[in-house]
Amino acid sequence: MTEPPQTEEDFEHIAKMLPQPHIYDFIQRATPISELKIYRIPSQSRKRRNIINKLPNRFIMIGDSYCRFDPLYGQGMTVAAMEAELLRKELGRLSTGETMDTVIKSYWIKLPKLTNDPWDMALIEAYRHPGITGTRPIGIGLKQWLTQKIYKASAHDSSVYLRLAQVMNLTRPSSIFFLPSLLRKLFR
Ligand SMILES: Cc1cc2nc3c(=O)[nH]c(=O)nc-3n(C[C@H](O)[C@H](O)[C@H](O)COP(=O)(O)OP(=O)(O)OC[C@H]3O[C@@H](n4cnc5c(N)ncnc54)[C@H](O)[C@@H]3O)c2cc1C
Repeated sequence: MTEPPQTEEDFEHIAKMLPQPHIYDFIQRATPISELKIYRIPSQSRKRRNIINKLPNRFIMIGDSYCRFDPLYGQGMTVAAMEAELLRKELGRLSTGETMDTVIKSYWIKLPKLTNDPWDMALIEAYRHPGITGTRPIGIGLKQWLTQKIYKASAHDSSVYLRLAQVMNLTRPSSIFFLPSLLRKLFR
C-alpha cells in the first residue's frame, strides 16, 4: 500500500497487519482525540556542494534552508542546532584575526560533512519506498542491506541497539558500525 489510510477502519486494518500486535491492541483500548489527519512531506532536500560558487559573497544557509528532512526522522532541529554551533565556532575565529570571508568559506566547507550522517540515513530509508523515482545514489543498496542487519541485530542485542540509538540521535558518527567488534555481532 503506497497511500496512507484515509479512514479509521483503514487505519485499524493496517495496524492489524503489522508483524507485532502491540499497536493494534493499544488502538483497541484508546479513544481518538480527533478525526484522522494526513500530512505529507513531498520532498527532502540538501543543497549541492557547488552551490557556494553561485551565492552572493558572505551568504550563508542554515537549518531547513540548507537541508530539509522528512520530520518522520526527528532530526531537523538537531541538525539545525549543530549547524548553529558550527557557525558560532567559525564566527568565534573573527576574534583571532580571521577575516569574515575566510570564516564563511570555512563554514560552507564543513557544512556537508556535518549533515552527511543524517542525510545518508534519510536517503537509505526514503529509497526503500517503492514510489521513489529518479537516479538511486551510488551504494544505496549496500547501505540498505547493512542497515537492515543493524536493525535485526538491535532487536536482540542491547549493545547494537545502544549504538543504533546513538547514531540516530546524532550523538555518535555512523562509522562506529564499522568497528570490528560491532561488525562481528552483525555477521555472526
Ligand atoms: C510536522 C513537522 C514535525 C517535525 N518534527 C520534528 C521533530 O520531532 N524533531 C526534529 O528535530 N525536527 C522536527 N521537524 C523539523 C524541524 O521543525 C525543522 O527542521 C526545524 O524547525 C528547522 O529550523 P529552521 O530554523 O531552519 O526553520 P523554521 O523552524 O521553519 O524557522 C523558520 C522561520 O522563518 C520564518 N520565516 C519564513 N519566511 C520568512 C520571511 N520571508 N521573513 C521572515 N521570517 C520568515 C518562519 O515563520 C519561521 O519562524 C518537524 C517538522 C515538521 C514540519
